[in-house]
Amino acid sequence: MFKINNYYFARFLPLIFLLSVTSQPVKSSSALAAWSLNSNGLLELRTRKNSNLKAYYQKANQLYGDRFWVDFNGELLNPRTIKGNGPVKEIRLGKPVSGITRLVIEFAPQKSINPYQLKLIGVDENKWKIKLTSFPLNSFKTMKEGNVSKAPVTYPKRQELRSLRDINLRITDLPNIKRNKYSVVIDPGHGGPDSGAVGIDGLKETDVVLDVSKIVTKLLLEKGVNVKMTRNKEVEVDLSPRVAFANKTNSDIFVSIHANASRGKKRYINGIETFYYSGWRGRLLAEKIQKEVLKVSPGSPDRGVRRGRYFVIKRTNMPAVLAEIGFVTGRLDARRLEKKIHRKRVAFAIAKGILEYFKRVG
Ligand SMILES: [Zn+2]
Repeated sequence: MFKINNYYFARFLPLIFLLSVTSQPVKSSSALAAWSLNSNGLLELRTRKNSNLKAYYQKANQLYGDRFWVDFNGELLNPRTIKGNGPVKEIRLGKPVSGITRLVIEFAPQKSINPYQLKLIGVDENKWKIKLTSFPLNSFKTMKEGNVSKAPVTYPKRQELRSLRDINLRITDLPNIKRNKYSVVIDPGHGGPDSGAVGIDGLKETDVVLDVSKIVTKLLLEKGVNVKMTRNKEVEVDLSPRVAFANKTNSDIFVSIHANASRGKKRYINGIETFYYSGWRGRLLAEKIQKEVLKVSPGSPDRGVRRGRYFVIKRTNMPAVLAEIGFVTGRLDARRLEKKIHRKRVAFAIAKGILEYFKRVG
């Protein structure tokens, strides 16, 4: 057993940095499910939901190189050491005390890392990432165990589903704006032979977005907004004619409606995102739409409002956004997008976002 004397403390303690503690209520024991350290120095972790993570750094001493480690709840079955390469000496998975899993990354003696730049970020309720250091590109081979991106679909809470039922789809529940003052171009993505993304059970993006776009148009017309659609049936329209048409109308805003697909059609990837290209108006419009679509899509991750360089929002000369209303390839989103009631809710949400935007900008 160690007897820790003052001298030891004085030398040892200041060298250990507790980098961060992320703690969420623990309902069940949790553990590290997968990890990956890629050749750019990015460490990604997948854990069980609601995990407690503690991250540490310790400077090199006579015995070890610079070390970074993370402690997780739950025990490992087989402690192991994985031989590193390049600037990474080795990676150890161990059980420092019972009930804890420890992942240690030890760097080679000549490689030192700066603890003040380390930030462990929770990406999702079960995903984490931390940039350990910058390595010259491909200075070593990626090391990993398991698949860090495999994430269980989060199902909406019962309460959230109940709140969905309370959403009225009555025109009188949409905000009022001055009639005959505003004009909008609605652009249903793809069309005709270009079906866009094809998802679970052959669910086609073009069908979903045309249906939603038609309902948005109808709602806005009823609210006294002047609306033009770039297409209102299953025909193929190239991107430049869409932009040329929109620019000719001199409308206030342009809203392109799309559904997403993940590479490799991963069913666990779901979510809502809205793109704008530039300007505070575009951003504001994107934020209003994103917020409303999320409300009618409980459990579907918020992928955020982002800048995107899509042709139709880049080349149109009015505030323009491109809304991705869910993944036709995602288990949760696809099951919804195929239903009429959900399409109505999404259309209602987009119309509401647009009207809120007009209320704000006047
Ligand atoms: Zn699309």
